[in-house]
Amino acid sequence: MPPAAPSATSSVLEALRSVLGAAGFIDGTAPEAERYLRDWTDDYQGAALAVLRPRSVEEVQALVRICAKHRVPIVPQGGNTGLVAGAIVDGPPSVVVVSLERLNRIRGIDAVNFTLRVDAGAVLQALKDAAESEDMLFPLALGAQGSCQIGGNVATNAGGINVLRYGMTRDLVLGLEAVLPDGSLWEGMTGLRKDNRGYDLKQLLIGSEGTLGIVTGVEVKLFPRPANVETAYLGVGSFADAMALFGMARRVCSDLLTAFEVIGSECIALATLSNPETRVPLEGEWPVHVLMELGCSSAIDGRALIEALLGEAFEAGLLGDGTIAQSRAHARAFWAIREDLVEGQAKRSRHIRTDLSVRLSDVARMIESARTYVLSNWPGWEPVAYGHAGDGNIHFNVMPPTGLSAGEVRERGTELLDGLYGLVRGFGGSFSAEHGVGRSRRAVYWEWLTPEQQKTAAAVKAAFDPLGIMNPGCLVSD
Ligand SMILES: Cc1cc2nc3c(=O)[nH]c(=O)nc-3n(C[C@H](O)[C@H](O)[C@H](O)COP(=O)(O)OP(=O)(O)OC[C@H]3O[C@@H](n4cnc5c(N)ncnc54)[C@H](O)[C@@H]3O)c2cc1C
Repeated sequence: MPPAAPSATSSVLEALRSVLGAAGFIDGTAPEAERYLRDWTDDYQGAALAVLRPRSVEEVQALVRICAKHRVPIVPQGGNTGLVAGAIVDGPPSVVVVSLERLNRIRGIDAVNFTLRVDAGAVLQALKDAAESEDMLFPLALGAQGSCQIGGNVATNAGGINVLRYGMTRDLVLGLEAVLPDGSLWEGMTGLRKDNRGYDLKQLLIGSEGTLGIVTGVEVKLFPRPANVETAYLGVGSFADAMALFGMARRVCSDLLTAFEVIGSECIALATLSNPETRVPLEGEWPVHVLMELGCSSAIDGRALIEALLGEAFEAGLLGDGTIAQSRAHARAFWAIREDLVEGQAKRSRHIRTDLSVRLSDVARMIESARTYVLSNWPGWEPVAYGHAGDGNIHFNVMPPTGLSAGEVRERGTELLDGLYGLVRGFGGSFSAEHGVGRSRRAVYWEWLTPEQQKTAAAVKAAFDPLGIMNPGCLVSD
C-alpha cells in the first residue's frame, strides 16, 4: 500500500474551510482544538492541522474527497472516550481530525420494527433516552455513555455491562452508512434482521476503528424495556467463588441475567477518591464484590428469582453477604461504585490499564496468576482487578508506586504489560476484550497475528483504503 504523502498546503485547508464554513473548521493550533487533541486518560497529547466538524453526510463526503485528492490523512473522532489512542495522533501535525459531533440527529424510531436510525455523532445516552421515550430499550451501556457517540461505539465494537444478555455493539447493529476513503457513500441501512445476500460488509466496518471509512449513520435494534429490574450488591470470598456464583446465576436466572460485574475490594479506595461518600452496602469485609442485575417483564417475579438465587448461593457457601436494591435510586448508588472506581483510578495517577479476556473457566485462575506475577516481580506496584466477569472480561490494572514520573510509568509499564500479555496469551485469551487496538496496542496486535492473519488484515485495509489515508497508524502500521 503506498503511504499517504501529507501535502496539506494552506490552500487545501482553505478548501476544507470553505466546504465546512467557519463553524465547521478549527485550526489545529487554536485553543478550541485542544479538547479534540487530548484523550480522556490524559496519557496522550495529539496534534492536527485542523479539526473538521461536518454537519451533514454530504459535508463528510466533500471533505473526504478533498483529503483523498491531496492525500491528507484523516482521523475520525467520536466522543474521544476511547482508551487506546485510536482518535489521537501525536508528533508534528500531519492529519485532520474529523469530529462527528455536529452530525447527531435521531433520524427516527420504527416502533413496529423495534429499530432506531440515527446519525453517527449522536451521543449514546441520547439513543437510550430516545428508546426509553417509546418505552423501549437500547441496551448498550458503559461508563462513558454521556460522552461517547454511537459511531465511536460501532467503530470500536464497544461492549459494556449488558453484553451478557444483549451482546456487543456488533450484535445490536442492523444497518450502517459510511463514507469510504474516496468520498463515496456506502449505504446499508436495511433494517432487516435476516439478510444473507453475500458478504456482510457492515461487519468489517464494525470494529475497524476508523481505518476503513467514516461511519455517518447507524440503525440499531431496540428491545422491550424490562418493567422489573433487580440489582444486587454481594460480598464473596474469592474470584473463584464469584465465578461459581455466576454459573449458578445463569442456571437459576437463565437469560434474564443482564449484568454480572466483579470488583476486587482494593477498588473501593479508588472509588472513594472519586466520591468520598462511597458506601459499600455490605456487612463485614469481603475480598471480592459482585454487582449483578436481571431484568424481566412485569409478568415475571424477578424479586422471587433473585431471592431464590441468593438463598441457594448462601446455602452452598458461595455468598458472604448481600443487599438487593429497594429502589432505582438504591440500584444507581450500587452502580455508582462501579463507575467511580474507574474515575478514581484516573484521579489517583497515570497507571497501567488492561482489557483482558479469557474463557469463563479461566477467569479466577487468570486473576490469581496476574496478581502473583505483579506482587512477586513489581514491588510497590498495586494490582487492581474488576470487570465484566460474566463475559470473561477483566480490567486488570496496576497502580504504580507514588512519585514515579509519567515517563517512568510509561517505560516500566510497557515491560509490565508484556508480562501480563504473555500470561493471558498462555490462557489462550485476548489482550483486548472490548477497547480495541488503536495506536497503543498496535504492536502487540500484529505480533499475535499469524502470517496468514496479517496478510488478510493488510488486504482488507488495502481494499477499502488503497491510499492509506484513513486513520493511519491506528490498528495497521502507517
Ligand atoms: C469511563 C469510561 C468507561 C468506559 N467503559 C467502556 C466499556 O465498559 N466498554 C467498552 O467497550 N468501552 C468502554 N470505554 C471506552 C470507550 O468509551 C469506547 O471505546 C467507545 O465506544 C468510544 O466511543 P467514542 O465515540 O468516544 O469514540 P472515540 O474515542 O472518539 O474513537 C474511538 C475509535 O473509533 C473511531 N471512530 C470514532 N467515531 C467514528 C466514526 N463515526 N466513524 C469511523 N470511526 C470512528 C476513532 O477513529 C477511534 O479509532 C470506556 C471509556 C471511559 C472513558
